[in-house]
Amino acid sequence: MATQRDYYEVLGIPRSADDSEIKRAFRRLAQQWHPDVNTEHGADERFKEVNEAYQILSDPQRRQAYDMFGRAGVGGLGGDGQFGGFQGFGDLFDAFFGGAAAGATGSRRQRQPSGSDLRYDLRLTFDEAIRGAEKEIEFSAFARCETCTGSGAAPGTEPITCPQCHGTGEQRQIRSTMLGQMVNVTACPRCRGQGRIVESLCETCRGDGRVERKRTIRVTIPAGIDDGHQIRLSGEGEAGPRGGPPGNLYVVVHATPHPELRREDTELYYELMVSIAQASLGARVMVPTPDGAEPVEIKPGTQPGTEIRLRGRGVPHLRRTSIRGDLHVLVDVKVPSRLSARQRELLEEFAVESGDQLDLPAEDPDPGGGTNRRGRRQKGLFDKVKDAIS
Ligand SMILES: [Zn+2]
Ligand SMILES: [Zn+2]
Repeated sequence: MATQRDYYEVLGIPRSADDSEIKRAFRRLAQQWHPDVNTEHGADERFKEVNEAYQILSDPQRRQAYDMFGRAGVGGLGGDGQFGGFQGFGDLFDAFFGGAAAGATGSRRQRQPSGSDLRYDLRLTFDEAIRGAEKEIEFSAFARCETCTGSGAAPGTEPITCPQCHGTGEQRQIRSTMLGQMVNVTACPRCRGQGRIVESLCETCRGDGRVERKRTIRVTIPAGIDDGHQIRLSGEGEAGPRGGPPGNLYVVVHATPHPELRREDTELYYELMVSIAQASLGARVMVPTPDGAEPVEIKPGTQPGTEIRLRGRGVPHLRRTSIRGDLHVLVDVKVPSRLSARQRELLEEFAVESGDQLDLPAEDPDPGGGTNRRGRRQKGLFDKVKDAIS
């Protein structure tokens, strides 16, 4: 769901901002929030919001409509995240790569519509996300028509210069207003801003210059990628109509969680349950790691809540894969809820040896038993045992 913030507020500019201010604000924010750069939670939402605001405010007509009627005047921009519905990124990459020139010279720019960006949702196993992988993905999308090589004109013919706009793709209307003359530039209706017209259409694509085709692409998944990350494959989106530049393909990663290890960025967490005896006497226990099970030493007298850190057993850093995070083993002590007669006997003996008082009231003064461990950390281990026994 898109937020409903004011577009000027989104870009942090006054309502009087001129084109270059809008562009500057957009570039700064887009670079800050671009999901390729910013992996923070919610960055892609912010990025979409910034992009949407820019789409409207950078277009004089849509901006005017927005100023007068708010969002109702410009309609909702899409971006519901469905495959193929991920449009409107075109201007962003203009701003990143070709921005300065395009913005400064302005009016004579020919509008050649580009293909839409595409989104592909890719599921990875925990292991693939950690180690990286080569994946082949297959999808249907508009691709350049081979019959006409994208021009949309029947083979042997060529698109001609539009007679109405003489190839500029623009229609200029001069209006006299109270503030003086205003030039209104819109796309030429005859050629739809293309400057060229196809007279005899290519039969394969009916003049669109592209056809829907099944495509297979190999995607290299870097080690350390995480759930929700996106990989941008530049130019692998839809082909543009009539030879226009292609959009980008965004591969959105969905990583399956590990059944036992909890991941936070480069760190992994494992909750290790040990028995009272193991915690008291010390033990060697096996712990799952991304590289297989490994033995971990539990020192005698280990307390609940102790953290044992296995350095370098976490997830590789996305950009410096030689560095790996840690695996944090969080030790918890399991108090038996049911005792055999022999176990009970031994524990009672233990309690006597420790001088513990055992003649507790029959009713548990703290019913429920499942109280927060942290809240009870000050209680000793054998207080817990007594609680359990009673
Ligand atoms: Zn064609
Ligand atoms: Zn024209």
